[in-house]
Amino acid sequence: MTGTQGTNLDQWYGHYAARTAGLAASEVRALFAVASRPEVVSLAGGMPYVSALPQQLIETAVERTVSEQGAVALQYGSGQGVPRLREQILEVMALEGIHGSVDDVVVTTGSQHALELLSKLFLDPGDVVIAEGPSYVTAITVFRSFQAETVHSPMDADGLEPQALRETIARVKAEGKRIKFLYLIPSFQNPMGVTLTWERRVEILEIARSEGILVLEDNPYGLLYFDQAPPPAIRSLDEDGVVYLGTFSKTLAPGLRVGWAIAPHAIREKLVLANEAAILSPSSFSQIVISEYMETADWRGQIDTFRGVYRERRDAMLAALQEHLPSMSWTVPNGGFYVWLTMPEHLDSKAMLPRAVKELVAYTPGTAFYADGNGRRNMRLSFCYPKPDFIREGIRRLATVINGELAL
Ligand code: PMP
Repeated sequence: MTGTQGTNLDQWYGHYAARTAGLAASEVRALFAVASRPEVVSLAGGMPYVSALPQQLIETAVERTVSEQGAVALQYGSGQGVPRLREQILEVMALEGIHGSVDDVVVTTGSQHALELLSKLFLDPGDVVIAEGPSYVTAITVFRSFQAETVHSPMDADGLEPQALRETIARVKAEGKRIKFLYLIPSFQNPMGVTLTWERRVEILEIARSEGILVLEDNPYGLLYFDQAPPPAIRSLDEDGVVYLGTFSKTLAPGLRVGWAIAPHAIREKLVLANEAAILSPSSFSQIVISEYMETADWRGQIDTFRGVYRERRDAMLAALQEHLPSMSWTVPNGGFYVWLTMPEHLDSKAMLPRAVKELVAYTPGTAFYADGNGRRNMRLSFCYPKPDFIREGIRRLATVINGELAL
């Protein structure tokens, strides 16, 4: 018998910091291993379709980075990010209705890293983050890793509901808890795919202001709209009460790991210090590659190309759902990567997943997107990565599984 019998296999068990208690592999992560088998149609992950990028132009940007700016690109850089890229980020931001100063932009290692830094700056154990219900799984993980509690507030097809938000805030306050952030993904939300209307953006900002709650506006998908652009960013309405998070992960490439925060001045200063403490400086190399790419390639045209690719895939998914699962309900996203499916009350998407994988289709169970166990009858279906034929086949397989459950 092994010497570890009856004890934990990890000899350091018991040594970890208390804040790591909530760090479990997410349902999304555990899925990746299974879903990456080629015979499985994965509607689970949120991987951008990077094959649609102009490879030649990326190669040119990399070459120019090495040959013309090697001394800077291969060196440590500023903790706030490369100044030229920060200017170019403002060009991207202008498309979202944000007109700021380069001083307010902090480059991070993806917007995930900005979430981590902001959590480090603001969250104490027991603090509350109010988030949409459902919300982005890895944001919930970050908040949990700082021992903060995510409390969800309900949404409908127009995004977070303002009256319900008022009630959620009142309830949390009545419990004597401190609310630190209102975390929102207003455009083509992950995982629901819905978009917060302009009227609600204004109203929700007003609520946050009157309650003294900092808004984190996480907007990776805003430029990936299919028909008309979403309303301007919430940050365009308020420079003091909103931290905006952006990223090149969906409009260019997640492998470069470059995102940014646009923050009120005082927060920006603290973010730079936290950035330096965590990583000294974001990758000079990646930043300069992006800067070169934006200088030499038609980056706006490339975003149009992505829109076309994802629109076709969204259409394929919606048509397949209509054909194969007409009695279910689902959201109709006008941009982004995701559809949110609702099944009849008694079905459980998590319990059903192994049967789906057996039928060679994968999705993300709705429970992954709630901190409180909700979402059993829901699933997130991503249309970003598989080609339309695979999406159609995936939904056909999914229908076999769901209809099999219904027949039980
Ligand atoms: N926020 C949301 C809502 C996301 O969907 C993602 C990526 N899936 C991120 C943040 C993180 O993106 P990145 O770190 O690649 O910028």
